[in-house]
Amino acid sequence: MPRVGEQGQSALLNRRVLVVGAGGLGSPAAMYLAAAGVGFLRIIDPDSVELSNLQRQLLYRTKDIGESKAACARATLTAINPDVTVEALTMRFTPENACDCLQDVDFVIEATDSAVGTFAVAGACHDARLPYCYGGLTEFGGQVMTVLPGRTACIRCLFGSDVQPAAIDAESPPGPLSPVPGIVGSTQAAEAVKFLIGIGTLLVNRLLIVDALGMSFRTVPVRPSADCPVCGGCSPAISV
Ligand SMILES: [Zn+2]
Repeated sequence: MPRVGEQGQSALLNRRVLVVGAGGLGSPAAMYLAAAGVGFLRIIDPDSVELSNLQRQLLYRTKDIGESKAACARATLTAINPDVTVEALTMRFTPENACDCLQDVDFVIEATDSAVGTFAVAGACHDARLPYCYGGLTEFGGQVMTVLPGRTACIRCLFGSDVQPAAIDAESPPGPLSPVPGIVGSTQAAEAVKFLIGIGTLLVNRLLIVDALGMSFRTVPVRPSADCPVCGGCSPAISV
């Protein structure tokens, strides 16, 4: 791949990515990042593998049921690419442990399964000025947006300043159709790789909306909001 080349591949090997959540989105995202040769992956998830996870969480096999997702994820990712160092943390990402979780990483994949988790990652990444890619799922679709804190619209700009994450979670739709998380999580991995090697155009200041039923992909603009409680509108004039 001329636009990546040895230089890009070498750069990936020296980069470090945190994947918050090793479920439907974190599975394809982490697997592609490992396969692409990102040198260090930190995987955080508090849960154990359940039978119902297996229809969409490709990191796991039937034999893994009952085991720590983070530990199983490490085994799968290391098997995909033994050159990748995988740190597995069986814990929930919270504002209290965010500083440790974000330490020494270059990019964050936000792959939690709740708005509470999404907002926790978004707030912590803003404070640390760490770029991240948000992924969300509906029953038959999903959405993706990349955020460069202090430079582009953030997740709270997208959701609005008044919204309560717990209220969003209370109305969350049923689990997504099996292949949909693969589409969304793979897109998040693509954003990470592009950022890490500095190619292409990122999904910033716009939201990708995937509708698997109609099979359409469209983007809508997201403006930095002066009312945003996280970024306060940052600097929308900066081009990326
Ligand atoms: Zn904002």
